[in-house]
Amino acid sequence: RESQRLSKILAQAGVASRRNSEELIFQGKVTLNGSVCKLPQTRVDILKDSIYVNGNRLPKKLPPKIYFALNKPKGYICSNGKEELKSVVSLFDEDFWNTWTKINPGLPKPRLFTVGRLDVATTGLIIVTNDGDFAQEISHPSSNLTKEYIATIEGSVHKRHLLVISEGTKIEGVHCTPASVELLPSQPDMLRSRIRIVVNEGRNHEVRELLKNAGLEVHSLKRVRIGGFRLASNLGLGKYVELKPSDLKIVG
Ligand code: URA
Repeated sequence: RESQRLSKILAQAGVASRRNSEELIFQGKVTLNGSVCKLPQTRVDILKDSIYVNGNRLPKKLPPKIYFALNKPKGYICSNGKEELKSVVSLFDEDFWNTWTKINPGLPKPRLFTVGRLDVATTGLIIVTNDGDFAQEISHPSSNLTKEYIATIEGSVHKRHLLVISEGTKIEGVHCTPASVELLPSQPDMLRSRIRIVVNEGRNHEVRELLKNAGLEVHSLKRVRIGGFRLASNLGLGKYVELKPSDLKIVG
């Protein structure tokens, strides 16, 4: 066990995100061994040091790290914002936490968040965890994780559309190209088409922008894979499964 930055300990303890933990420290809401500490980088030892946040003592134990693959329904947002919309994290409801507390008596409750984001209208695979290091690692561009989406498009899709998609488009000032794009077979009388599209970076709205740039109208968008981890086809919308250590390796 090593000493850690105060802000990191607060985040790991589930007080707030790393950034908001720093903010609490700057605001003088955190005391270390009896005095206000305004330096987030201060090294602390959770067992030896006495830390208070807003007058509440920080537990000596950190919550265990937990990881889930969740099938995000439409209409849910990935931030824990105070917006009117329901957050993905709220799908871990009271029943879930009651059970969790029974299985983990005496342990502090993990503060869950999503790894990256899906648009409010997008469905499919999102990882939910309380492990900030893991989240950073797999979100970082150098992780080179590809993400696979199935887009359902209004009307038919032709070769020229696929060509435009594969040439990419500018998003937030950066030219983005997909890793691959492919038309999936559909019944001849279908009014909609389906495209498999794989991207590397995952910039804001990347897939929707690529499709829009090709003049296509998206009916729905679903993420089905992150790295080597594929969403189980029998996992219903709003449902989640805990990730095994072997899953974490192929995700990250
Ligand atoms: N690209 C998008 O356009 N939307 C998402 O939700 C994810 C990737």
